[in-house]
Amino acid sequence: MTTDNNPWLRAKRQLDKVSKQIPIPPLLLAELSEPHRIVTVSLPVKMDNGEIKVFEGYRVQHNNILGPYKGGLRFHPNVSMDEVRALAFWMSMKCSVVDIPMGGGKGGITVNPKELSENELKRLSKLFANRLAPVIGPTIDVPAPDVNTNPQIMSWMVEEYAKVVGKKTLAVLTGKPLNNGGSQGRTEATGLGGSYVLLETLKKLKKNPKGMTVAVQGFGNVGYYVAEFLEKAGMKIVAVSDSKEGIYVEDGLSPKTTLACKQKKGMLSGCYCVGSVCDVKKGRKITNDELLELDVDILVPAALENVITDKNAANIKAKIVLEMANGPVTDSADSILKKNNVLVIPDILANSGGVCTSYYEWYQNMHHEKWAKKEVFTKLKGQLERVTDEVLAVQKKYAVTMRDAAYILALKRITNMYKRTKRM
Ligand code: NAD
Repeated sequence: MTTDNNPWLRAKRQLDKVSKQIPIPPLLLAELSEPHRIVTVSLPVKMDNGEIKVFEGYRVQHNNILGPYKGGLRFHPNVSMDEVRALAFWMSMKCSVVDIPMGGGKGGITVNPKELSENELKRLSKLFANRLAPVIGPTIDVPAPDVNTNPQIMSWMVEEYAKVVGKKTLAVLTGKPLNNGGSQGRTEATGLGGSYVLLETLKKLKKNPKGMTVAVQGFGNVGYYVAEFLEKAGMKIVAVSDSKEGIYVEDGLSPKTTLACKQKKGMLSGCYCVGSVCDVKKGRKITNDELLELDVDILVPAALENVITDKNAANIKAKIVLEMANGPVTDSADSILKKNNVLVIPDILANSGGVCTSYYEWYQNMHHEKWAKKEVFTKLKGQLERVTDEVLAVQKKYAVTMRDAAYILALKRITNMYKRTKRM
């Protein structure tokens, strides 16, 4: 890993940069430079064949000045501590910029869950909840799903947590199934939130979204919904991709029909679906690299980190990049995009619809409320439009990129709370 794409070094550079633009008390800066706490747990699990395997799990609690630590749990064979520390830092920034009373955390288990049976996964998840129980809780740390974790795993963990503390406590985790304390709208929230942020930015720039062309890298949960909601706003989705391939449809594809076609065929290739009709003559296959360099108005990286680098940044033709994935643009690529007048809408704002709705789930659990989907979406729209306006105002005031503006705003909110609670 290079210093350009090492996520923790990137996070530290960002903090360092903002500390030169706004006054941050030295003690707070030192506090934000490292996580508050890193918990490592040992997880011995009896496999179905009787063998015992010991897994390692961890939880990084970066900062809780604004509220309980909040962030996902990922189950993956090669997650590194640098990555998790950075993701926890970014959660502190994301919760702050989007103005929810939560701090930043992240965690996971070094495991390939695809190699486990359902019962093994259940035992592992429950043991993890058991070990984390002393350091999590509705007012302490509220984990959520992330890569390879899902509502079912959250349900198992809630069950185990209840056993340890002696009462059912739904608000200890978010991203739960609807029938077990989950929130309406969570599935769509990240993609929908990205569309609200983009549309509000375009409104402030006095640009009409109708007919704008969009390429989306990644056709998973986030990529699909952002494409779907941008199409509804009148944009033309000309390209989407998954880990295997991409497709280009000049007339603009229908995300809904394309998804149905992909699910039926098992691949994107050939799913050139305009309206309700898929026709192999309507489009062509492209690579993920080609997708990034298409001549479109909006480019949406919605798959992985570090996909726009110093190698391809100069070839990006889109004038706006909406970062739906976490960390898709490296630092050196960011400088090239800035020089080329490409507006990058930063991840901590663009994809914050997910954590916003997780907060709504926590809030509903804490207050024994159940909101309708329409209510969730109305709140999300209002919140994301407001914070987008705030970020754009900071951008104007400091004459910086939208990314720097988002960090300035996030760190200002944390600094204000720090001063108010007299932690200095
Ligand atoms: P997902 O697993 O549902 O979808 C990921 C998509 O990326 C899939 O279509 C997959 O095929 C594609 N992909 C994988 N490797 C690829 C590659 N090498 N090239 C191109 N495409 C590739 O995941 P998701 O929930 O949609 O998350 C996508 C991104 O958004 C991640 O960076 C995630 O951290 C971020 N994010 C997700 C949420 C959320 O609520 N799901 C919230 C904030 C940020």
